[in-house]
This record gives sequence, C-alpha cells and structure tokens, in this order.
Amino acid sequence: MIRVFVCPECGKIRIVSKFLKAECYQCGAQMKPCGIPYTEWVEMSREEREQISEKFRNQDS
Ligand SMILES: [Zn+2]
Repeated sequence: MIRVFVCPECGKIRIVSKFLKAECYQCGAQMKPCGIPYTEWVEMSREEREQISEKFRNQDS
C-alpha cells in the first residue's frame, strides 16, 4: 500500500510505502496522510497537487 503524505508545516509531499507515519524531510514535522489513493495521485495535475498541499498547510493543528 502506497500512501500520499502532506506536511502541514511546509506543504511538502512524500510518497510513502509500508509506513503508516512519515516525517517531513524538509522541516521534520509529522506528516498527514492526504487520503487520496496513490493511483489517483499519479494522474493528478501539478495544479491539483498544489491545491491539496495548500489545503493541508492552511489547517490548524
Ligand atoms: Zn515540512
């Protein structure tokens, strides 16, 4: 199972297999699973990916 994680601090995206948790390479924050299956993620445009990144970064937590 491959998951797409988003960093809530800097918006960075990581594709992670096997692990249920991921830390951001850039700022070390605990990343959040974005809930989008990897198979959908690979078909998304750069703009769509950036929107998701922005959405997670703007959340308070
Ligand atoms: Zn980060």
